[in-house]
Amino acid sequence: MIDLKSIVSYLDAEYPASLAEEWDNVGLLVGDLSARIKTMMTCLTVTPEVCEESVAKKVDLIISHHPFPFQAMKQITSQTVEGSMLLRLISHGIAVYSPHTAHDSAKDGVNQQLAAILDLTDVVPLNANGSGCIGYCKQNGILLSDLLQIVVSRLGTCSYVGDLNKSVNRIAIGCGAVDEFVDEAVKQEADLLLLGEARFHTCLHAQSLRLALILTGHFASEHFAVKTLAKKITAQFPKIPCFSSDSEQDVIKRYN
Ligand SMILES: [Zn+2]
Repeated sequence: MIDLKSIVSYLDAEYPASLAEEWDNVGLLVGDLSARIKTMMTCLTVTPEVCEESVAKKVDLIISHHPFPFQAMKQITSQTVEGSMLLRLISHGIAVYSPHTAHDSAKDGVNQQLAAILDLTDVVPLNANGSGCIGYCKQNGILLSDLLQIVVSRLGTCSYVGDLNKSVNRIAIGCGAVDEFVDEAVKQEADLLLLGEARFHTCLHAQSLRLALILTGHFASEHFAVKTLAKKITAQFPKIPCFSSDSEQDVIKRYN
């Protein structure tokens, strides 16, 4: 057993709040620092299913990529879904830590892991605040169709904008919903932006700027990193079980 404070210190050092976006809500969001931690679980989002899984598996700490709670709350009651989940977690002594955009931008964070999947070199942050990343393809002039195959084999299905025969040298990356990255990617001469999701009009805008897009889906762009995170925490605290949630699924289903 170890106290929550020690685990929070480790996570704060790995995913410092200084890397997070200004609007974000990161760090320890629920919990008593003196609590003893015996079991940990990572997840993408605290949903009612994840909440029940954590209770059933006697988890003491949930490390959730997306913050919970995210918005400020004036009441914590059973009259809302969020309130009910919070009451349930607190009554079972379950703490919540969320690294979110600090996890996106960390040196081994979500965007860097996506860059590794695409075999990029010379990877640097896309924006001055450290968010997103951009790098060069090891295989110069790789076709968009070949990149799509790599992404599908690693992350599942995806959609795209652009010509399948387009040759790609430079790729920008942003997990989750990062419509705002399109203009910066073009400015930095990216041929392609890989992202979780974008609005229809953002896709039209990218096409008009000749920027190809690979849209993996928000869930797929981040969920794999929750598994990596569980392995990393296990390596740091080998005596305390840490696993990723297995009740969590993409809320968006494909109908063929
Ligand atoms: Zn996200």
